[in-house]
Amino acid sequence: MPVARRVFDFDPRTHEPQLAPLIEALVRLPAHDARGLDRLVRRHPKHGRGLFRKSEIIAGFRALGGEARWGARERDFVARLRLRPVRTLSGVTPVTLLTRPFPCPGRCVFCPNDVRMPKSYLADEPGAQRAADNRFDPYLQTWNRLRAYREIGHPVEKVELIVLGGTWSFYPEPYQRWFVKRCLDALSDFGAGRDGRAQAGAAEPAAPGAPLDGRRLDRRAYNRRVGGALRGRAGLLHASERAGWQELAAAQRRNETAGARCVGLSVETRPDRVDAAEALRLRRLGVTKVQLGLQSLSDARLVANARGHDVAASRRAFATLRRFGFKLQAHWMANLLGATPASDVADFARLFEDPDFRPDELKLYPCMLIESAELAAYHARGQWRPYGEEQLLRVVAAGLERTPEYCRLSRVIRDFSAHDIVAGSRTANLREVAERRLRAAGRSPRDVRAREIRDRAFRPEALALRALVYPTGVGEEHFLQFETPDDRLVAFLRLALPRAPAPLPELAGSALVREVHVYGASQGLGRRDAHAPQHAGLGRRLLERAAERARAAGYADLAVISAVGTRAYYRSLGFADGPLYQHRRL
Ligand code: SF4
Repeated sequence: MPVARRVFDFDPRTHEPQLAPLIEALVRLPAHDARGLDRLVRRHPKHGRGLFRKSEIIAGFRALGGEARWGARERDFVARLRLRPVRTLSGVTPVTLLTRPFPCPGRCVFCPNDVRMPKSYLADEPGAQRAADNRFDPYLQTWNRLRAYREIGHPVEKVELIVLGGTWSFYPEPYQRWFVKRCLDALSDFGAGRDGRAQAGAAEPAAPGAPLDGRRLDRRAYNRRVGGALRGRAGLLHASERAGWQELAAAQRRNETAGARCVGLSVETRPDRVDAAEALRLRRLGVTKVQLGLQSLSDARLVANARGHDVAASRRAFATLRRFGFKLQAHWMANLLGATPASDVADFARLFEDPDFRPDELKLYPCMLIESAELAAYHARGQWRPYGEEQLLRVVAAGLERTPEYCRLSRVIRDFSAHDIVAGSRTANLREVAERRLRAAGRSPRDVRAREIRDRAFRPEALALRALVYPTGVGEEHFLQFETPDDRLVAFLRLALPRAPAPLPELAGSALVREVHVYGASQGLGRRDAHAPQHAGLGRRLLERAAERARAAGYADLAVISAVGTRAYYRSLGFADGPLYQHRRL
């Protein structure tokens, strides 16, 4: 793609005498020889001025003759040098973006108050830092992240946009449309080798000042400071931060066939902000997954922590979003104000025992004390203490063990820097430690993450298809999974057979495909590799099985909640575009 040459300031041609012998040696190096790789890079320095970066070596491979000159496939060469391969092993490349600082309707006592950031984020978190460097502009964040991925050898053709920050549903609708549109513009531009960054850049959005002091905080302080700063500057919403539905729809259509496509879009919000109108808006924006902050399934705990909504609101939000077909990621917290390790274990169990919840993905966050959170005052008065490591480990291990096969426990700790944590666990690999404990006791986690195949080899003919059927508050879920004989998960599909009334005429009589996921290192669109699960036809086979099940259950239509970048894929499998979903008659 021409974009490779445009995104680097580094010109490989001026370094050819040093770079070419290095590339030649690397092409001959056995795969997975990390030490050999380091040795060669040190042996071929850059004009005596330091060492070549891996991104520069990859640029050299492409610019100095490519596959024809080096006699090696670019993707093999890149894979050899690829940094942090784990990021794209789930099949798509994740791009995390932050919305700009903005008031939040929540007053949660555990939530940080860093007025330079959207609510609940800290300037020191890696993703937050990147967002601030890009002035929270969605175009700059997306484009620069794609560039960074590409420089270190990751494919960027299939991208999941993960939008974080405060409460998405509380941002004004014109901002929401603009934010998504600009992300899609950046993807489409990047895929076409176009750099539109010079035209990007919203009004300076951050509120001035340091994080607030949680010990002397009234609950409206963040909103007052941030809201006041925005109003004083240009009004809550700057004129440049607006887009209409038609502009968004045009950006969506352009991205359908772009070189870098949006294959998933998630936002995070509060349960009491979700109703049918909001779900409809999310679908129009192209959202496929909603991160929903439940935090607890105990009304007493929600009140103690000033969540501002009850468990009934969480129940309603889950039902609504599920009925619209969204993938659901719940956030749940341990060690909240008023909780004990025993109450946490029981509360966690309800997430899956109660059919009204049963999330598809879960983030388990142990509460940590951040200086700017109101919890600091409770801590100072001795009303809240963090669990000891052993207590926390018991809660996390119990949660891990109780997470069923259909759910992915995506995270078990927040990404705060150790120096931001005043009190609470600093163990960054809490999941790993909890897993070790479980295994030592002869038990093993069964969640999606524990079983996904990642980059292991497998034999397609040995795969078995297994269905896990479970009831939910609005119908029945069929979790169809392709597994290897040694219990590795290669692909899965979530099929919802609803019994609650359709929320839209478009979904009347429809079964719903909520997610199709095929593992394997993310590959470029249209590239084929017979050994890679993404191209072994597994997605198509799962959809056929889903159609059979839906037909047998009496549904006349199979609808899929597609992202803009997967529309062409579903069309190729016989789905026709509806206003908000794609459909196949059964
Ligand atoms: S709703 Fe979320 S972002 Fe808002 S205060 Fe509560 S935890 Fe923080």
